[in-house]
Amino acid sequence: MTVSSVVVVGGGIAGVSTVAELRKNGYAGELTLLTIDPFPYDRPPLSKDYLLGAKDLESIALQAPEWYSEQRIDLVPGLVVALDPAAGTVTLSDGLELSADRIVLATGGHSLWPDVERVVTERLDRPPAGLGIPRSTTGIHTLRSAEDADALRHVLLPGARLLVVGAGLIGAEVASTARKLGSEVVLVDPADPPIAAAVGTQVAAWLHSLHAVHGVEAVTATVEKLESTRAGVVAHIAGETEPRTFDAVLLAVGMAPDTAVAKAAGLEVDNGVVVDDHQVTTHPKVLAVGDCSRRRGHRRAEHWEAAVHDGQRAARTILGIDPPAETVHWFWTDRYGLHVEVVGEMRSPDGDHQTVVRGVVGEPPFSVFTLRGERVIGAVAVDDPNAVRAARRMIDRGVDVRASDLADPAKNLRSLLRG
Ligand SMILES: Cc1cc2nc3c(=O)[nH]c(=O)nc-3n(C[C@H](O)[C@H](O)[C@H](O)COP(=O)(O)OP(=O)(O)OC[C@H]3O[C@@H](n4cnc5c(N)ncnc54)[C@H](O)[C@@H]3O)c2cc1C
Repeated sequence: MTVSSVVVVGGGIAGVSTVAELRKNGYAGELTLLTIDPFPYDRPPLSKDYLLGAKDLESIALQAPEWYSEQRIDLVPGLVVALDPAAGTVTLSDGLELSADRIVLATGGHSLWPDVERVVTERLDRPPAGLGIPRSTTGIHTLRSAEDADALRHVLLPGARLLVVGAGLIGAEVASTARKLGSEVVLVDPADPPIAAAVGTQVAAWLHSLHAVHGVEAVTATVEKLESTRAGVVAHIAGETEPRTFDAVLLAVGMAPDTAVAKAAGLEVDNGVVVDDHQVTTHPKVLAVGDCSRRRGHRRAEHWEAAVHDGQRAARTILGIDPPAETVHWFWTDRYGLHVEVVGEMRSPDGDHQTVVRGVVGEPPFSVFTLRGERVIGAVAVDDPNAVRAARRMIDRGVDVRASDLADPAKNLRSLLRG
C-alpha cells in the first residue's frame, strides 16, 4: 500500500528526525507533527547552556520556524490521549481526531520520582502573578522540559542551597551548572562511583571526584525523606543524624518512557513500546521511535543520537527503502568544562575483557578502551573526540587491534582501522 499520510506524535528529536528523513527521501504525502511543546526544541542543553542562561529557547529549537512550512509539515499543538491502530487514528485532548496511513509514536518519557517519602507540610510561596516564571511550589524539581529548567534556574541563585538526588549524567551536569551559577550543591547517590556501568569504574571514579574539586559535596547515601516546609526542603539523608534544609531539590534518578497511549491501544509495552528492527510496533500501522521505544532484544537507549537513528529507520521503513547502516551506540555528556563521549560497552577487566588506557586517566585528553580479545567493544574519551570516532569505526567494522598500539599515543588511531 502506498503511504500518503503520516502522523508523528511527539516533537522531540526522534519525531523531528522522522519527519526530516521522510521528506529527505522524497515522501510527498501529508505529514503532521503533533507536540505539546511550544515548538520542537533540543533537550541536552536543558542541563547545560540553557540552564546556565547562556542559551534561550529559540536558540535550542530543533529547526527554524520556517522549516516546517518549507517542508510542508503541519506542526500541530496538542496532546494525544488515544490511539486506534486498526482505524489509524489519534485523538487529541480537545477531541480532535486525526487519521493517517501510518502513525509514529515519539512521545519520549518523563523523569522518575525515586522511592523517597515526600511530605508537603507547607507549600512554598507561589511566584508573584504575571512574572511568567513557572516554579515548583514544593521546592522539589525534576528536569525533562524547558519549563522544568526555567523553574530550576529561577532558584539557582548565588548561595542557594541545592540538593541533587542522583549523580547520573543529568544530576552531575546540573551540579556542574549550578556551581557555575554560584549555588551551593550537595549531590547524593548510593552508587560509588555512579555511572560505572556506562563509562567503566576507573573513569567513573575520576569523574565523580571532580565534584569535590569544584566545591560540590558528594555524599554516598540514599535520601530517605523530603519534607517541603516554608524554610525550604528538609532532607533526611541515610546515615546522617540531623536532617538538612535546602532551597531546592532536583530529583535526577532516571526517566521512564511515555507509553500510556500505546498501552491503552493494546500495543506491546515492556519498558518502552516494543518495536522490531524496523521500528514497527506490534501493529503494522504504528511505529515507535526514540526514548519511548525499545527494540525487541535490546536495552532501551535514552540518548540523543539513538533517537535520531530511530527516526531515520522509521521513515525508511514507511517508504520501503533500506534502513541506515547500523552503528554502535554513542552519547556525550559535559561537566566542569570537560566533554565526555562514550561508545559501545565498557566492561571491567576479567578473563575475557581488558582495559587499555591511552594517555593518563585524570589528565585530559585521554581515552580508555574495553577490548574483548583483539576487538574493541567500547571506549570512553575525555576531551578526545577523535579517539571515540576511531573506536566507533573499529567496533562497526570489527577490526582487530593490538592493545599496545591502542595505548601508544604516538600511533595514529585511524591507521589502526586498516587492521
Ligand atoms: C536534561 C537532559 C539532558 C540530556 N543530555 C543529553 C546528552 O548530553 N547527551 C545525550 O546523548 N542525550 C542527552 N539527553 C537525552 C536526550 O535528550 C533524549 O534521549 C532525547 O531527547 C530523546 O528524544 P525523544 O524525541 O525520543 O523524546 P523527547 O525529547 O522526550 O520528546 C518527546 C516529545 O513528545 C511529546 N509528547 C509526549 N507525549 C505526548 C502526547 N501524548 N501527545 C503529544 N506529544 C507528546 C513531549 O512533549 C516531547 O516534546 C538529555 C536529556 C535531558 C532531559
